[in-house]
Amino acid sequence: MVERSYFDWNATAPLRPQAAEALREALSVPGNPSSVHAEGRAARRLVEEAREEVAVLVAARSGDVFFTSSGTEANMLALTPAIQTADERLPREKLLISAIEHSSVRTGGRFPRGAVADIAVDADGRVDLAALADALAGTARPLVSIMLANNETGVVQPVAQAAAIVHAAGGLLHVDAVQAAGRIACDINALGADLLTLSAHKIGGPKGVGALIRAREDIHFPDPLIRGGGQERGLRAGTENVAGIAAFGAAAAAVRGQGAAEADHMLALRDRLETGLKAVASGVAIFGAAVERLPNTTLFAAQGMKAETAVISFDLEGIAVSSGAACSSGKVQPSHVLAAMGVSPTLTRGAVRLSLGWTTTETDIERFLGAWRKLATALSKGQAGMAA
Ligand code: PLP
Repeated sequence: MVERSYFDWNATAPLRPQAAEALREALSVPGNPSSVHAEGRAARRLVEEAREEVAVLVAARSGDVFFTSSGTEANMLALTPAIQTADERLPREKLLISAIEHSSVRTGGRFPRGAVADIAVDADGRVDLAALADALAGTARPLVSIMLANNETGVVQPVAQAAAIVHAAGGLLHVDAVQAAGRIACDINALGADLLTLSAHKIGGPKGVGALIRAREDIHFPDPLIRGGGQERGLRAGTENVAGIAAFGAAAAAVRGQGAAEADHMLALRDRLETGLKAVASGVAIFGAAVERLPNTTLFAAQGMKAETAVISFDLEGIAVSSGAACSSGKVQPSHVLAAMGVSPTLTRGAVRLSLGWTTTETDIERFLGAWRKLATALSKGQAGMAA
């Protein structure tokens, strides 16, 4: 069998051993966390321990963590005109989102389409803070959503500066930290975020679990997405995914212990990878390379390269990479992120994303560079499968 190298960690990360263990153990706990008997209390304990671990990961209080079925659901839950604080009970009139948000934010949550406006990014893929300030001027009770790090480029956004601007304008800031968690610091207070979204499967937990975290207990959602039982303090009805939540907690605990060392490991390998990429072929563009990026992400393109065919060619060589946004890979859609950065449609069509993780090895990097040498040679000859 061909050895495989996985470079698609921004799409999903493998389950951490600690999370797999927690998942297995929790699956054998029979109780419902809402039941008062010993079995129920054992299940409740698993959920609450996980809540504590997830809270600590972002320096929040456990009472401010609400579990959801995904990062997508947490984003949908956060983006509502009905959100209230102690000082502000009137509906939010406008949602401002950066032009590079994940599709779950770009849909505008529960705001009417006409109430959602984009904030531009610069050519490096960073939110334009002057444009943010302009958009906020004259907007009553705005809600703003800016991701901490972009899923395609890995570019880290100036969230703390954005928070100061949003708060000065009387707004609230939601931060999608799905790609950032476990790779860079995600302290909700240091970021100035009022709300923060996490997804378990990007940090080594299972797929299908997420969390919305608030910075203060005075932030309320009078309009939950799922009504029924009073689970998650009325914010999300439905018996909790106890095993998934327990495994999320275990992954969060592992990240706290190992995250910094893993980030160093990924960065060293990513540097080698990018040096190799550029050494093999001239004219390789690495998007966002001039600004701070996640330590694990490289989005690159070469003239004449078509991403769909490149992804297949790499796959045949035993290498999993992705083209464009990971969550929509499989669909061939031009990247709205690169479009917002002003990248030409031709170059955008060739963009391939490599994302590394804690088990990535030097052998993986060498395997990728070997395959890249072959592709780049075919590309330089304008051979079928690579040329546009
Ligand atoms: N936000 C970002 C930035 C993402 O990259 C993703 C998924 O790739 C999500 C949200 C959605 O998370 P989930 O897969 O848990 O729905």
